[in-house]
Amino acid sequence: MKEKNKTGKLFIVTAPSGAGKTSLVKALVELCPQIKISTSHTTRKPRQGEREGVDYYFVNNDTFEILKNNGEFLENAECHGAKYGTAMTPVEENLRAGKDIILEIDYKGALNVKKVFSDAISLFIVPPSMAVLKERLEGRGQNSNAEIKGRLAAAKEEISHLEKFDYVIINNKFDQALYDLKSVFIDSPESINLETMRQKKIFQSLINSIK
Ligand code: 5GP
Repeated sequence: MKEKNKTGKLFIVTAPSGAGKTSLVKALVELCPQIKISTSHTTRKPRQGEREGVDYYFVNNDTFEILKNNGEFLENAECHGAKYGTAMTPVEENLRAGKDIILEIDYKGALNVKKVFSDAISLFIVPPSMAVLKERLEGRGQNSNAEIKGRLAAAKEEISHLEKFDYVIINNKFDQALYDLKSVFIDSPESINLETMRQKKIFQSLINSIK
């Protein structure tokens, strides 16, 4: 276990595509600039406006495989047909320097990180319903119908793992979700427990709706 020498906190945020994870994490970091967002490596092509080294390190498949075989990744996984990986060194360096760091990664990566950093705090963001998720994906205008279908199917699979996470929040209203995110990571994780319990019914209906 790696936590013995570290002083910063490691946060993991996972969400299905379209649940609003990137906007929520960005807003959290604006409120709490002491937190750093980890930059992953990916083999997918940059989208419009994405910057090398900021949004991702964009690499080809060969480079990704070399990094992976050299043991450079804390975790890596395949999502939506591309490979993604979190480099270990920057995470370790930031934690050692006392800096908090957020990983925005898929559920497989999240569970693997917990095996290495057992005191990392993992949080899953869900949409209020599958219907809302579909509307959001369609509204973004970034994906074809076939891609949206694939992302909804992937969302069902991802949501079926939410009970393995330390915290689950619902992104229904952005400000409330941001408040919940900040409560878990920054203020006091206990403050969300009651709310989480209250929301359990919603989780159950969400889980039932994807069965
Ligand atoms: P996107 O290509 O839309 O930015 O991300 C697609 C998915 O890959 C998201 O669920 C995102 O959280 C996940 N992802 C991004 N970086 C990493 C990473 O380093 N590791 C893992 N396991 N998943 C990642």
